[in-house]
Amino acid sequence: MVLHMESIATKRKCFICEQESQDGIEVLGKFLCTECQHKLINLSPLDEAYDFYRRKMIDIWEGYMKDIKYENRM
Ligand SMILES: [Zn+2]
Repeated sequence: MVLHMESIATKRKCFICEQESQDGIEVLGKFLCTECQHKLINLSPLDEAYDFYRRKMIDIWEGYMKDIKYENRM
C-alpha cells in the first residue's frame, strides 16, 4: 500500500511547460500535465501560443515515429 501511495505522489515533468506535476496523462510516452492538456484542448489557431504547442507536439511525434521506424528496421 505504501508503494502504491508513492507511485501516485510521483511528480513527472511535463514536456510542454516543463513543470513537475502529479496530475496528467501520458502522450506518446511523454508526460503532459492536466493544465497543458486543457490548454491544448481549448487552443485556437489564432492563439499566440498555438504555434508553440503545435511545435512541441510535432517534436514529440517525430521522436516517436523515429523510434517506430528504427524498430521496424530491426
Ligand atoms: Zn504542462
